Amino acid sequence: MKTRAERDGDSYVVTGQKVWTSRALHSDLLLLLARTTPEADVKRRGDGLSVFLVDIRASLGKGLDIRPLPAMINHNTTELFFDALRIPADNLIGEEGKGFRYILDGLNAERILIASEALGDARWFIRTASEYAKTRIVFDRPIGQNQGVQFPLARSHAEAEAADLMVRKAAALFDAGEACGPDANMAKLLAADASWHAGEACLQSHGGFGLAREYDIERKWRETRLFQIAPISTNLILAYIGEHVLGLPRSY
Ligand SMILES: Cc1cc2nc3c(=O)[nH]c(=O)nc-3n(C[C@H](O)[C@H](O)[C@H](O)COP(=O)(O)OP(=O)(O)OC[C@H]3O[C@@H](n4cnc5c(N)ncnc54)[C@H](O)[C@@H]3O)c2cc1C
Repeated sequence: MKTRAERDGDSYVVTGQKVWTSRALHSDLLLLLARTTPEADVKRRGDGLSVFLVDIRASLGKGLDIRPLPAMINHNTTELFFDALRIPADNLIGEEGKGFRYILDGLNAERILIASEALGDARWFIRTASEYAKTRIVFDRPIGQNQGVQFPLARSHAEAEAADLMVRKAAALFDAGEACGPDANMAKLLAADASWHAGEACLQSHGGFGLAREYDIERKWRETRLFQIAPISTNLILAYIGEHVLGLPRSY
């Protein structure tokens, strides 16, 4: 992370950039994580980072530039450029240098939230495909009577139910104020996989109509693909489980 915030009197001066920021052009406020102590002067890379509340509307054109970054799905993604943006020192959240801890706490909540969103997708795919498979007749019988169509849907249902249990476990730990890093990460991993497999089964069950815009399946299939990459990629979750749960050597 290279974006810097340097103290100057009653302000911090921010310089740097952030790619992939959803909906910044539709938001009033921004939580910004920036480096306040150079990496060379801290023990751990996560130290020396601070969180600030930035008033987006007041900052536009005064050191903050936001440019749309069109993507495969409609997420209103943007890129942010900070060029000596001056923000009041009062907008520092918590203590200077401890920002990464605060952000990490929020990331677990985000993972549980995204896992729930993925589960919603999985259920929509399975329900939509099951209804279609009951009514679409090919070779004189509903396609859902064929195991080749039925079993991927049944497997997806089982995967979604299992992921649901992990999402609820992570949410319960988070609500109780307990550590939930492994559970939140596993919930996101399992729910993202469940929704992707359900999306594949749904699109395949619909044959050509899986690709027809009017059925919304191709759109939701594209949207659910995002969960393999954001807000954290599948590989990085596996690396986290390998290192922090199984005690294996750090892989990166
Ligand atoms: C539509 C969209 C909206 C987004 N919105 C936001 C947002 O609002 N706010 C925000 O902060 N971010 C947002 N993001 C960013 C998103 O969180 C990142 O794209 C995501 O975390 C992956 O990081 P990256 O793109 O830098 O991929 P990279 O880190 O470049 O990784 C590329 C690939 O390499 C793999 N990889 C990298 N390192 C390793 C390793 N050590 N071992 C194994 N595999 C590895 C990754 O798994 C990935 O598949 C958004 C992204 C998208 C596409």
